[in-house]
Amino acid sequence: MKVPEQPKANIGLVGHVDHGKTTLAKMLTGEYTDRHSEEIKRGISIRLGYADTAFYKCPNCEEPQAYSTSPDCPICGTQGEFLRAVSFVDSPGHETLMATMLSGAALMDGALLLIAANERCPQPQTKEHLMGLTIIGVEKIVVVQNKIDLVDEKEARKNHKEIQDFLKGTVAENAPIVPISAHHNINVDYLIMEIERNIPTRKFEEGRPPRMHVARSFDVNTPGTGPDRLVGGVIGGSLLQGHLQVGDEIEVKPGRQLELSGKSQWEDITTEVVSLRAGGMPREKVRPGGLIAIGTKLDPAMTKSDAMLGRVAGAPGTLPSVVDKLTVETQLLERVVGTEEELKVEDIRTNEPLMLSVGTSTTVGIVTSARENMADLTLKIPVAVEPGQRAALSRRIGGRWRLIGYGVVK
Ligand code: GDP
Ligand code: MG
Ligand code: ZN
Repeated sequence: MKVPEQPKANIGLVGHVDHGKTTLAKMLTGEYTDRHSEEIKRGISIRLGYADTAFYKCPNCEEPQAYSTSPDCPICGTQGEFLRAVSFVDSPGHETLMATMLSGAALMDGALLLIAANERCPQPQTKEHLMGLTIIGVEKIVVVQNKIDLVDEKEARKNHKEIQDFLKGTVAENAPIVPISAHHNINVDYLIMEIERNIPTRKFEEGRPPRMHVARSFDVNTPGTGPDRLVGGVIGGSLLQGHLQVGDEIEVKPGRQLELSGKSQWEDITTEVVSLRAGGMPREKVRPGGLIAIGTKLDPAMTKSDAMLGRVAGAPGTLPSVVDKLTVETQLLERVVGTEEELKVEDIRTNEPLMLSVGTSTTVGIVTSARENMADLTLKIPVAVEPGQRAALSRRIGGRWRLIGYGVVK
Protein backbone atom coordinates (compact mmCIF):
# COMPACT_ATOMS: atom_id res chain seq x y z
CA MET A 1 0.00 0.00 0.00
CA LYS A 2 1.18 3.51 -0.76
CA VAL A 3 1.63 5.21 2.61
CA PRO A 4 2.22 8.89 3.53
CA GLU A 5 5.81 8.37 4.71
CA GLN A 6 8.49 5.70 4.93
CA PRO A 7 7.27 3.11 7.47
CA LYS A 8 8.75 3.53 10.93
CA ALA A 9 8.62 -0.03 12.26
CA ASN A 10 8.63 -3.64 11.17
CA ILE A 11 5.94 -5.68 12.82
CA GLY A 12 6.25 -9.44 12.55
CA LEU A 13 3.34 -11.82 12.05
CA VAL A 14 4.22 -15.12 13.69
CA GLY A 15 2.46 -18.24 14.90
CA HIS A 16 1.34 -21.70 13.90
CA VAL A 17 0.38 -22.48 10.31
CA ASP A 18 -3.22 -21.55 9.42
CA HIS A 19 -3.77 -19.38 12.47
CA GLY A 20 -4.43 -16.40 10.21
CA LYS A 21 -1.18 -14.44 9.72
CA THR A 22 -1.62 -13.82 6.01
CA THR A 23 -5.34 -13.08 6.40
CA LEU A 24 -4.60 -10.48 9.08
CA ALA A 25 -1.91 -8.91 6.92
CA LYS A 26 -4.45 -8.63 4.11
CA MET A 27 -7.01 -7.04 6.45
CA LEU A 28 -4.48 -4.49 7.72
CA THR A 29 -2.69 -3.65 4.48
CA GLY A 30 -5.15 -4.54 1.72
CA GLU A 31 -2.44 -6.72 0.16
CA TYR A 32 -1.46 -10.32 0.07
CA THR A 33 1.97 -10.40 1.63
CA ASP A 34 3.07 -13.18 -0.65
CA ARG A 35 1.72 -11.52 -3.80
CA HIS A 36 5.18 -10.68 -5.13
CA SER A 37 6.76 -14.02 -4.55
CA GLU A 38 7.41 -16.33 -7.43
CA GLU A 39 6.35 -19.32 -5.39
CA ILE A 40 2.74 -18.31 -5.28
CA LYS A 41 2.55 -19.01 -8.98
CA ARG A 42 3.76 -22.50 -8.18
CA GLY A 43 1.23 -22.83 -5.35
CA ILE A 44 3.54 -22.62 -2.37
CA SER A 45 4.55 -19.72 -0.22
CA ILE A 46 7.71 -20.23 1.75
CA ARG A 47 9.43 -16.88 1.82
CA LEU A 48 9.06 -13.82 3.97
CA GLY A 49 6.16 -11.70 2.86
CA TYR A 50 5.71 -8.03 3.50
CA ALA A 51 3.28 -5.20 3.04
CA ASP A 52 2.93 -1.68 4.39
CA THR A 53 0.05 0.15 5.98
CA ALA A 54 -0.69 3.40 7.80
CA PHE A 55 -2.59 3.89 11.06
CA TYR A 56 -5.01 6.78 11.65
CA LYS A 57 -7.04 7.96 14.61
CA CYS A 58 -10.39 9.73 14.25
CA PRO A 59 -10.59 12.86 16.45
CA ASN A 60 -14.37 12.45 16.91
CA CYS A 61 -14.84 8.76 17.65
CA GLU A 62 -14.14 6.94 20.91
CA GLU A 63 -11.34 4.45 21.46
CA PRO A 64 -10.88 1.83 20.18
CA GLN A 65 -13.23 2.53 17.24
CA ALA A 66 -11.22 5.64 16.40
CA TYR A 67 -8.29 3.51 15.13
CA SER A 68 -8.19 2.40 11.52
CA THR A 69 -6.04 2.06 8.44
CA SER A 70 -8.20 4.51 6.52
CA PRO A 71 -7.41 8.26 6.18
CA ASP A 72 -11.14 8.94 6.52
CA CYS A 73 -12.84 7.48 9.57
CA PRO A 74 -14.83 4.36 8.50
CA ILE A 75 -17.51 5.24 11.10
CA CYS A 76 -18.13 9.00 10.82
CA GLY A 77 -16.17 9.99 7.72
CA THR A 78 -14.08 12.64 9.50
CA GLN A 79 -10.49 12.96 8.34
CA GLY A 80 -8.33 10.98 10.79
CA GLU A 81 -5.04 12.03 12.36
CA PHE A 82 -2.12 10.17 10.70
CA LEU A 83 -0.29 8.22 13.40
CA ARG A 84 2.38 6.10 11.74
CA ALA A 85 3.21 3.95 8.74
CA VAL A 86 4.46 0.42 9.48
CA SER A 87 5.62 -2.64 7.54
CA PHE A 88 4.37 -6.13 8.30
CA VAL A 89 6.74 -9.06 7.96
CA ASP A 90 4.76 -12.26 7.42
CA SER A 91 6.46 -15.49 8.48
CA PRO A 92 5.66 -18.89 7.10
CA GLY A 93 4.20 -20.99 9.92
CA HIS A 94 5.16 -24.42 8.70
CA GLU A 95 7.60 -26.25 10.95
CA THR A 96 10.20 -26.82 8.24
CA LEU A 97 10.44 -23.07 7.66
CA MET A 98 11.80 -22.04 11.04
CA ALA A 99 14.96 -20.68 9.37
CA THR A 100 12.83 -18.24 7.39
CA MET A 101 10.95 -17.17 10.51
CA LEU A 102 14.27 -16.53 12.28
CA SER A 103 15.55 -14.48 9.30
CA GLY A 104 12.43 -12.35 9.52
CA ALA A 105 12.76 -11.96 13.29
CA ALA A 106 16.10 -10.23 12.71
CA LEU A 107 14.13 -7.34 11.17
CA MET A 108 11.25 -7.15 13.62
CA ASP A 109 10.78 -4.29 16.07
CA GLY A 110 7.88 -6.18 17.58
CA ALA A 111 5.52 -8.97 16.64
CA LEU A 112 1.93 -10.15 16.63
CA LEU A 113 1.71 -13.75 17.83
CA LEU A 114 -1.39 -15.25 16.24
CA ILE A 115 -3.22 -18.02 18.07
CA ALA A 116 -6.36 -19.60 16.64
CA ALA A 117 -9.24 -19.60 19.14
CA ASN A 118 -10.66 -22.83 17.74
CA GLU A 119 -7.60 -24.98 18.53
CA ARG A 120 -5.90 -26.06 21.73
CA CYS A 121 -3.14 -23.69 22.79
CA PRO A 122 -0.20 -23.96 22.40
CA GLN A 123 0.29 -25.64 19.03
CA PRO A 124 3.90 -26.65 18.26
CA GLN A 125 4.85 -23.62 16.15
CA THR A 126 3.06 -21.26 18.55
CA LYS A 127 5.70 -22.26 21.07
CA GLU A 128 8.54 -22.45 18.60
CA HIS A 129 7.87 -19.00 17.15
CA LEU A 130 7.60 -17.42 20.59
CA MET A 131 10.91 -19.06 21.49
CA GLY A 132 12.40 -17.77 18.22
CA LEU A 133 11.32 -14.22 19.08
CA THR A 134 12.79 -14.62 22.57
CA ILE A 135 16.13 -15.87 21.26
CA ILE A 136 16.44 -13.13 18.65
CA GLY A 137 15.42 -10.55 21.28
CA VAL A 138 12.03 -9.43 19.93
CA GLU A 139 10.21 -8.62 23.16
CA LYS A 140 7.47 -6.21 22.14
CA ILE A 141 4.65 -8.61 21.52
CA VAL A 142 0.90 -8.37 21.09
CA VAL A 143 -0.90 -11.71 21.27
CA VAL A 144 -3.78 -12.06 18.82
CA GLN A 145 -6.51 -14.57 19.58
CA ASN A 146 -7.84 -14.99 16.05
CA LYS A 147 -10.88 -16.72 14.54
CA ILE A 148 -13.23 -15.81 17.40
CA ASP A 149 -16.07 -16.04 14.87
CA LEU A 150 -15.62 -19.83 14.94
CA VAL A 151 -16.16 -20.29 18.69
CA ASP A 152 -18.89 -19.41 21.18
CA GLU A 153 -18.21 -17.24 24.19
CA LYS A 154 -17.54 -20.14 26.55
CA GLU A 155 -15.00 -21.69 24.18
CA ALA A 156 -13.38 -18.29 23.64
CA ARG A 157 -12.93 -17.85 27.40
CA LYS A 158 -11.49 -21.34 27.81
CA ASN A 159 -9.04 -20.70 24.98
CA HIS A 160 -8.13 -17.30 26.49
CA LYS A 161 -7.27 -19.06 29.76
CA GLU A 162 -5.09 -21.60 27.88
CA ILE A 163 -3.26 -18.72 26.20
CA GLN A 164 -2.69 -17.00 29.56
CA ASP A 165 -1.31 -20.21 31.06
CA PHE A 166 0.95 -20.72 28.07
CA LEU A 167 2.35 -17.17 28.26
CA LYS A 168 3.15 -17.39 31.97
CA GLY A 169 6.91 -17.13 32.50
CA THR A 170 7.62 -16.13 28.88
CA VAL A 171 8.65 -12.73 27.46
CA ALA A 172 5.01 -12.28 26.44
CA GLU A 173 3.68 -12.83 29.97
CA ASN A 174 2.37 -9.25 30.17
CA ALA A 175 1.48 -8.87 26.51
CA PRO A 176 -2.13 -7.92 25.77
CA ILE A 177 -4.30 -10.70 24.31
CA VAL A 178 -6.62 -9.24 21.68
CA PRO A 179 -9.54 -11.36 20.46
CA ILE A 180 -10.23 -10.73 16.76
CA SER A 181 -11.55 -12.20 13.59
CA ALA A 182 -9.11 -11.31 10.83
CA HIS A 183 -11.48 -12.78 8.30
CA HIS A 184 -14.54 -10.77 9.40
CA ASN A 185 -12.73 -7.59 10.53
CA ILE A 186 -13.89 -7.92 14.14
CA ASN A 187 -11.87 -5.94 16.74
CA VAL A 188 -9.13 -4.98 14.29
CA ASP A 189 -9.50 -1.37 15.57
CA TYR A 190 -8.72 -2.66 19.06
CA LEU A 191 -5.68 -4.49 17.72
CA ILE A 192 -4.34 -1.32 16.06
CA MET A 193 -4.73 0.51 19.37
CA GLU A 194 -2.72 -2.19 21.16
CA ILE A 195 -0.03 -2.15 18.45
CA GLU A 196 0.31 1.61 18.87
CA ARG A 197 0.58 1.22 22.65
CA ASN A 198 2.88 -1.80 22.78
CA ILE A 199 5.14 -1.73 19.72
CA PRO A 200 6.69 1.73 19.65
CA THR A 201 9.01 3.10 16.99
CA ARG A 202 12.58 2.30 17.92
CA LYS A 203 15.19 5.04 18.25
CA PHE A 204 17.17 5.16 15.01
CA GLU A 205 20.89 5.53 14.97
CA GLU A 206 20.90 7.79 11.95
CA GLY A 207 24.39 9.22 12.31
CA ARG A 208 26.17 5.91 11.77
CA PRO A 209 27.17 4.38 8.42
CA PRO A 210 24.25 2.62 6.70
CA ARG A 211 23.91 -1.11 7.24
CA MET A 212 21.16 -3.42 6.08
CA HIS A 213 20.28 -7.07 6.59
CA VAL A 214 19.12 -8.40 3.24
CA ALA A 215 15.81 -10.26 3.57
CA ARG A 216 14.72 -10.50 -0.06
CA SER A 217 16.22 -10.02 -3.49
CA PHE A 218 14.68 -9.88 -6.92
CA ASP A 219 15.16 -9.77 -10.62
CA VAL A 220 12.37 -7.32 -11.52
CA ASN A 221 12.78 -7.65 -15.29
CA THR A 222 9.99 -9.44 -17.11
CA PRO A 223 11.12 -12.34 -19.27
CA GLY A 224 12.20 -11.23 -22.71
CA THR A 225 13.32 -7.72 -21.69
CA GLY A 226 15.98 -6.54 -24.14
CA PRO A 227 19.51 -6.05 -22.78
CA ASP A 228 19.29 -2.27 -23.26
CA ARG A 229 16.18 -2.11 -21.06
CA LEU A 230 17.32 -4.50 -18.30
CA VAL A 231 17.39 -3.01 -14.82
CA GLY A 232 19.90 -4.11 -12.22
CA GLY A 233 19.27 -6.45 -9.30
CA VAL A 234 17.06 -5.32 -6.42
CA ILE A 235 17.80 -6.13 -2.78
CA GLY A 236 15.27 -5.67 0.01
CA GLY A 237 15.59 -5.45 3.76
CA SER A 238 15.73 -2.98 6.61
CA LEU A 239 18.38 -0.49 7.57
CA LEU A 240 19.68 -1.17 11.06
CA GLN A 241 21.35 2.22 11.17
CA GLY A 242 22.25 5.19 8.98
CA HIS A 243 20.82 6.67 5.79
CA LEU A 244 21.03 5.62 2.18
CA GLN A 245 20.69 7.91 -0.79
CA VAL A 246 20.42 7.40 -4.50
CA GLY A 247 23.97 7.50 -5.87
CA ASP A 248 25.60 6.04 -2.73
CA GLU A 249 28.10 3.28 -3.12
CA ILE A 250 27.38 0.10 -1.14
CA GLU A 251 29.21 -3.08 -0.39
CA VAL A 252 27.50 -6.47 -0.07
CA LYS A 253 29.02 -9.21 2.10
CA PRO A 254 29.61 -12.07 1.61
CA GLY A 255 29.69 -11.26 -2.09
CA ARG A 256 30.12 -13.86 -4.74
CA GLN A 257 31.80 -17.23 -4.70
CA LEU A 258 34.68 -17.72 -7.08
CA GLU A 259 36.58 -20.86 -7.95
CA LEU A 260 40.27 -19.96 -8.05
CA SER A 261 42.64 -22.79 -9.00
CA GLY A 262 40.27 -25.35 -7.50
CA LYS A 263 39.75 -23.39 -4.28
CA SER A 264 36.55 -21.55 -3.55
CA GLN A 265 36.88 -17.95 -2.43
CA TRP A 266 34.45 -15.20 -1.60
CA GLU A 267 34.84 -11.86 -3.24
CA ASP A 268 33.07 -8.81 -1.86
CA ILE A 269 30.79 -6.89 -4.17
CA THR A 270 30.40 -3.16 -4.43
CA THR A 271 27.69 -1.46 -6.41
CA GLU A 272 25.77 1.78 -6.68
CA VAL A 273 22.33 2.64 -5.32
CA VAL A 274 20.38 3.44 -8.49
CA SER A 275 16.93 3.71 -6.94
CA LEU A 276 15.20 3.37 -3.58
CA ARG A 277 11.66 2.35 -2.70
CA ALA A 278 9.88 2.40 0.64
CA GLY A 279 6.24 2.63 1.63
CA GLY A 280 5.15 1.84 -1.94
CA MET A 281 6.92 4.86 -3.48
CA PRO A 282 10.27 5.78 -4.99
CA ARG A 283 12.44 7.77 -2.54
CA GLU A 284 15.66 9.77 -2.88
CA LYS A 285 16.75 8.93 0.64
CA VAL A 286 15.79 6.28 3.22
CA ARG A 287 16.34 5.84 6.95
CA PRO A 288 15.90 2.86 9.29
CA GLY A 289 12.32 1.69 9.87
CA GLY A 290 10.19 -0.55 7.71
CA LEU A 291 11.26 -2.43 4.65
CA ILE A 292 13.13 -0.82 1.81
CA ALA A 293 14.13 -1.99 -1.66
CA ILE A 294 17.40 -0.91 -3.23
CA GLY A 295 17.83 -0.90 -7.00
CA THR A 296 21.50 -1.60 -7.83
CA LYS A 297 23.78 -2.07 -10.80
CA LEU A 298 24.27 -5.74 -9.95
CA ASP A 299 23.60 -8.36 -12.58
CA PRO A 300 19.93 -9.28 -11.96
CA ALA A 301 20.86 -12.95 -12.30
CA MET A 302 22.72 -12.55 -8.99
CA THR A 303 19.70 -11.25 -7.11
CA LYS A 304 16.87 -13.35 -8.50
CA SER A 305 14.72 -15.55 -6.25
CA ASP A 306 16.12 -14.24 -2.97
CA ALA A 307 19.64 -15.34 -3.86
CA MET A 308 21.03 -12.49 -1.72
CA LEU A 309 19.04 -13.40 1.40
CA GLY A 310 21.24 -13.23 4.49
CA ARG A 311 23.82 -10.83 3.09
CA VAL A 312 24.78 -7.61 4.82
CA ALA A 313 24.87 -4.43 2.75
CA GLY A 314 26.15 -1.01 3.69
CA ALA A 315 28.84 1.63 3.46
CA PRO A 316 32.03 0.16 1.96
CA GLY A 317 34.70 -0.63 4.53
CA THR A 318 32.33 -0.53 7.50
CA LEU A 319 30.75 -3.98 7.39
CA PRO A 320 31.58 -6.94 9.64
CA SER A 321 34.15 -9.35 8.25
CA VAL A 322 33.25 -12.54 6.44
CA VAL A 323 34.18 -15.64 8.41
CA ASP A 324 33.96 -19.36 7.84
CA LYS A 325 34.98 -20.26 11.39
CA LEU A 326 33.22 -19.07 14.52
CA THR A 327 33.46 -19.51 18.25
CA VAL A 328 30.22 -19.02 20.13
CA GLU A 329 29.38 -18.90 23.81
CA THR A 330 26.31 -21.07 24.01
CA GLN A 331 23.12 -20.83 26.00
CA LEU A 332 20.95 -23.89 25.48
CA LEU A 333 17.26 -24.36 26.16
CA GLU A 334 16.19 -27.03 28.60
CA ARG A 335 13.76 -28.68 26.23
CA VAL A 336 13.29 -28.81 22.48
CA VAL A 337 10.23 -26.75 21.59
CA GLY A 338 8.13 -27.27 18.51
CA THR A 339 7.92 -31.04 18.84
CA GLU A 340 5.22 -33.10 20.52
CA GLU A 341 7.61 -34.93 22.85
CA GLU A 342 9.61 -31.92 24.14
CA LEU A 343 12.88 -33.82 24.35
CA LYS A 344 15.64 -32.66 26.66
CA VAL A 345 18.31 -30.56 24.90
CA GLU A 346 21.54 -32.57 25.02
CA ASP A 347 24.95 -30.89 25.23
CA ILE A 348 26.63 -29.86 21.99
CA ARG A 349 28.92 -32.60 20.65
CA THR A 350 32.07 -32.42 18.57
CA ASN A 351 31.43 -33.24 14.90
CA GLU A 352 27.70 -32.58 14.97
CA PRO A 353 26.17 -30.16 12.46
CA LEU A 354 24.25 -27.15 13.79
CA MET A 355 22.21 -24.60 11.89
CA LEU A 356 23.07 -21.00 12.72
CA SER A 357 20.70 -18.11 12.10
CA VAL A 358 22.52 -14.83 12.43
CA GLY A 359 20.94 -11.64 11.21
CA THR A 360 18.92 -12.72 8.19
CA SER A 361 21.46 -15.38 7.22
CA THR A 362 21.28 -19.12 7.70
CA THR A 363 24.29 -21.39 7.54
CA VAL A 364 25.26 -24.84 8.73
CA GLY A 365 28.37 -25.33 10.83
CA ILE A 366 30.18 -28.45 11.94
CA VAL A 367 31.25 -28.35 15.56
CA THR A 368 35.02 -28.81 15.62
CA SER A 369 35.31 -28.48 19.38
CA ALA A 370 32.69 -28.33 22.12
CA ARG A 371 33.65 -27.21 25.59
CA GLU A 372 31.46 -26.41 28.57
CA ASN A 373 29.51 -23.47 27.14
CA MET A 374 31.68 -22.76 24.11
CA ALA A 375 31.66 -24.25 20.66
CA ASP A 376 33.96 -23.80 17.67
CA LEU A 377 32.30 -24.25 14.31
CA THR A 378 33.42 -24.48 10.70
CA LEU A 379 30.73 -23.04 8.46
CA LYS A 380 29.63 -24.46 5.12
CA ILE A 381 28.69 -21.00 3.87
CA PRO A 382 30.57 -18.05 5.36
CA VAL A 383 28.69 -15.19 7.01
CA ALA A 384 29.40 -11.54 7.74
CA VAL A 385 29.24 -11.25 11.53
CA GLU A 386 30.87 -9.34 14.30
CA PRO A 387 31.63 -10.26 17.91
CA GLY A 388 28.64 -9.88 20.22
CA GLN A 389 26.04 -10.83 17.62
CA ARG A 390 23.62 -13.58 18.54
CA ALA A 391 23.22 -16.71 16.47
CA ALA A 392 20.16 -18.89 17.00
CA LEU A 393 21.24 -22.54 17.11
CA SER A 394 19.20 -25.40 15.73
CA ARG A 395 19.96 -29.10 15.77
CA ARG A 396 18.75 -31.82 13.48
CA ILE A 397 16.26 -33.92 15.46
CA GLY A 398 13.93 -36.44 13.83
CA GLY A 399 14.84 -35.16 10.37
CA ARG A 400 14.17 -31.45 11.07
CA TRP A 401 16.10 -28.48 12.36
CA ARG A 402 14.89 -27.68 15.88
CA LEU A 403 15.74 -24.61 17.88
CA ILE A 404 17.99 -25.58 20.82
CA GLY A 405 19.35 -22.23 21.98
CA TYR A 406 21.70 -19.47 20.92
CA GLY A 407 25.33 -18.59 20.81
CA VAL A 408 26.99 -15.21 21.23
CA VAL A 409 29.74 -14.75 18.64
CA LYS A 410 33.17 -14.30 20.31
P1 GDP B 1 -1.42 -18.43 8.09
O1 GDP B 1 -0.91 -19.78 7.72
O2 GDP B 1 -1.21 -18.15 9.55
O3 GDP B 1 -0.90 -17.32 7.22
O4 GDP B 1 -3.01 -18.47 7.94
P2 GDP B 1 -3.94 -17.86 6.79
O5 GDP B 1 -4.06 -16.39 6.95
O6 GDP B 1 -3.49 -18.37 5.47
O7 GDP B 1 -5.34 -18.47 7.21
C1 GDP B 1 -5.59 -19.85 7.18
C2 GDP B 1 -7.05 -20.09 6.92
O8 GDP B 1 -7.83 -19.59 8.01
C3 GDP B 1 -7.59 -19.41 5.67
O9 GDP B 1 -8.48 -20.28 5.04
C4 GDP B 1 -8.30 -18.18 6.20
O10 GDP B 1 -9.32 -17.76 5.38
C5 GDP B 1 -8.81 -18.67 7.54
N1 GDP B 1 -8.95 -17.60 8.52
C6 GDP B 1 -8.02 -16.67 8.88
N2 GDP B 1 -8.51 -15.84 9.81
C7 GDP B 1 -9.78 -16.23 10.06
C8 GDP B 1 -10.82 -15.77 10.94
O11 GDP B 1 -10.68 -14.81 11.68
N3 GDP B 1 -11.98 -16.47 10.92
C9 GDP B 1 -12.18 -17.54 10.10
N4 GDP B 1 -13.36 -18.14 10.16
N5 GDP B 1 -11.23 -17.99 9.27
C10 GDP B 1 -10.05 -17.35 9.25
MG1 MG C 1 0.57 -17.37 5.72
ZN1 ZN D 1 -14.89 8.84 13.41
